[in-house]
Amino acid sequence: MKAFSIGKVYVNENMDRVIDINPLPENYCSFDCVFCPFGRTQVKTDQTFDFKEMETFLCNLEERLKDKAIDLVFINPDGESLANDRMLDVIRVIKKYAVKVKIISNGYLFNREEYKEILNLCDEVIGELAVTSEENFQKTQRPLRGYTFEEYVSNMENFNKQYKGKFILDVTILKNYSDSNENMERFKEIIKRIKPDEIIVQTPEDDHLKEAFGIDAARLKEIEKQLNLAIAIEE
Ligand code: SF4
Repeated sequence: MKAFSIGKVYVNENMDRVIDINPLPENYCSFDCVFCPFGRTQVKTDQTFDFKEMETFLCNLEERLKDKAIDLVFINPDGESLANDRMLDVIRVIKKYAVKVKIISNGYLFNREEYKEILNLCDEVIGELAVTSEENFQKTQRPLRGYTFEEYVSNMENFNKQYKGKFILDVTILKNYSDSNENMERFKEIIKRIKPDEIIVQTPEDDHLKEAFGIDAARLKEIEKQLNLAIAIEE
């Protein structure tokens, strides 16, 4: 999506009328994943930033919510939503119109107190996962120095212990990094810890990423079935 843009209304699988919004100027993120659909991270950070465009963005968002019948706003930027220091204001504007909020993040910052307040106001949060080991985490997701895979998982696990909304775990399967049977066993262990309400399983599909990291449709389907079984056993 374009910087500070508000998308057109579409209907999702639950028949909600949805708009996607991007409250970032470019890819701000604490990771720099080799499979990122937005290219290289422009600002690698876990801090928040004050963007001058936000006053106009908030006005435009409010106008849109006034004008159109919308059930859900999906905060779905090309980067890390939590890098914007006005996220509370964004959510307050949406809630003023009794509209549900869904937010996506890589999930590493979920257990930080300053972000928990924001995330707890959202009806749905999406955290992401792509690998199952420290080595592959460092290699494929190139996080900020000092970040560890164990902390990544435990941050999502601890956040979800207190979160009352719907936690969706978005799992990206990478060829040669997270598509083996051994990986499946590790994913299942992680799912048991995080206890998501729903799992989305995908693989890179953009042309420039597909060849290096994408897996075939049949294997993806099989993995999806296995991981959803893990969630069902949990329930
Ligand atoms: S966490 Fe998401 S936005 Fe950030 S670099 Fe990785 S794929 Fe891109």
